[in-house]
Amino acid sequence: QRIIGSGATREDDAIEASIRPKRLDEYLGQQPVREQLKIYIEAAKGRGEALDHVLIFGPPGLGKTTLSHVIANELGVNLRQTSGPVIEKAGDLAALLTNLQPHDVLFVDEIHRLSPLVEEVLYPAMEDYQIDIMIGEGPAARSIKLDLPPFTLIGATTRAGLLTAPLRDRFGIVQRLEFYNAEELTKIVRRSAQILGIACEAEGAGEIARRSRGTPRIANRLLRRVRDYAQVRANGHIDRAVADAAMAMLKVDPEGFDDLDRRLLKTIIESFDGGPVGVESLAAALSEERGTLEDVIEPFLIQQGYLIRTARGRMASSRAYRHFGLDPRDRPGE
Ligand code: ADP
Repeated sequence: QRIIGSGATREDDAIEASIRPKRLDEYLGQQPVREQLKIYIEAAKGRGEALDHVLIFGPPGLGKTTLSHVIANELGVNLRQTSGPVIEKAGDLAALLTNLQPHDVLFVDEIHRLSPLVEEVLYPAMEDYQIDIMIGEGPAARSIKLDLPPFTLIGATTRAGLLTAPLRDRFGIVQRLEFYNAEELTKIVRRSAQILGIACEAEGAGEIARRSRGTPRIANRLLRRVRDYAQVRANGHIDRAVADAAMAMLKVDPEGFDDLDRRLLKTIIESFDGGPVGVESLAAALSEERGTLEDVIEPFLIQQGYLIRTARGRMASSRAYRHFGLDPRDRPGE
């Protein structure tokens, strides 16, 4: 388990339930997204209609699942949660849809991983609140139409480009989540510390925030690891020095990079002369999956200006060279 890894752990489940924001005003950062959703939610409620379908995209841990729950709470409806790979057959989806109450939210995580057959069933469900299901087999088979209650589909995915065009077009509301800045993450860390009863000074929270790769899930996870350290070494009190020392022990560097971030940049610099290198070659050199690089590792490095994506492949920026104490002018072609 990487500290910076994006997957949820069992420990996360229990604690996350307590620190996960439930209302829009507890959902920190993402200002434009919040403002727009607030209006759409209020308008839908005012008309007594289901909210239009919502597509939320962005790297793991930025708050897609959380936002979906917040939307359902603000609408005052139930949320049913599933994910693309879990819905194997059209019948699975039909069962989910026919069990919804009017205006409920169906949250489908990793919606880009729906099978094409299931996706076909979803189109009329989203458009007309209707599904066609086949009953029987062979010559006796016939299709029947079922009416569904008006509902809101919320789909989450790491990149909007992973969706087929017909599916993407059926979402009336499309929101992209951005990496959080240090100030927003500091607020998130302080809020979580308060809920969990952790004594954490503003400067300690800021230190954790700066090293969280712009990601609330990582910030909350680092907070818990720093708490352990503080408990054993500093009477449970987190200030800047304690946060610093704990982070050094965890090998999270001042940029928030972890081992894989550093390996990726170093591999481009050392094995591929700074790039450009194709993502497949890079994945092979790192023994990582291409999807992990594209969805988890690269977006932050690109946003921070360490990695450049060109038509011919990935390149390390001069900033990346300087991060490792190297002179960017040594780059071939400079
Ligand atoms: P995703 O579904 O995008 O992978 P999650 O919704 O599971 O991410 O968010 C990870 C954790 O980060 C949540 O448990 C929540 O505690 C925290 N979190 C996410 N977004 C916010 C936010 N805007 N404000 C405060 N905490 C947040």
